[in-house]
Amino acid sequence: MQAQDPRPLVAGNWKMNGLLSSLEEVDKLAAGIANGARPACDVMLCPPAPLLLAMRERIGEAAIAVGAQDCHMQDSGAHTGDVSAALIADLGCTAVIVGHSERRTDHGETDAMVLAKALSAHRAELTAIVCVGETEAERDAGKALEIVGHQVASSVPDGVTAANLVVAYEPVWAIGTGRTPTAEEIGEVHSFIRRQLMDRFSDGEQFRLLYGGSVKPANAAELMAVSNVDGALVGGASLKAEDFLGILAAYR
Ligand code: PEP
Repeated sequence: MQAQDPRPLVAGNWKMNGLLSSLEEVDKLAAGIANGARPACDVMLCPPAPLLLAMRERIGEAAIAVGAQDCHMQDSGAHTGDVSAALIADLGCTAVIVGHSERRTDHGETDAMVLAKALSAHRAELTAIVCVGETEAERDAGKALEIVGHQVASSVPDGVTAANLVVAYEPVWAIGTGRTPTAEEIGEVHSFIRRQLMDRFSDGEQFRLLYGGSVKPANAAELMAVSNVDGALVGGASLKAEDFLGILAAYR
């Protein structure tokens, strides 16, 4: 019997955008999903940490999960300004992004730190969305697979399963730039990650591999149709419900 493809996930990363008033967009998104536009994928929003609870409450019973954008690698303690995975879970969230390239760059996060954060997420029973991706210079030097392979090997902990770990391939040069790799380039990296996960985990075929980097309504269907792409991590186009619904339409 052939294994079924993983159920896709489309997650919106609001980054450091949004105010309380932005939750209006959540109402519009929920209404759009309820009004016959329910996509055949899981939907998630990842707002800044101070908005997590308000967003979770605002969503109510709508089919939208809430995730955080980062967590600390330790469960609690003297880490001013940081947020624990345990608190994120306590607020009703189900996932946390770890190792986003902006955190790797802005906060010097290493693969080892990302791995420790993923473990922290799992202790709190959260799904960890581990981000990997090469810079433009690395791609131009022909090193994209080597870099991504190393990040996956070093940021994804042993013992994880398709149920608690998602990998997001986000080429750094495609984030927020309006530029995207070709379908062939994305397919090459995703099948490479898939093989790596299958070599390492018995359910490697079932891990969700998201593509991220300038996904928008106009290119979502094409990008989501690439083999081994099981959804998207969306930045800018997740801020407005209309745009995000346009991306979700790739799964209707
Ligand atoms: C992101 O930062 O995860 C991202 C993919 O951003 P954008 O969609 O804006 O390129």
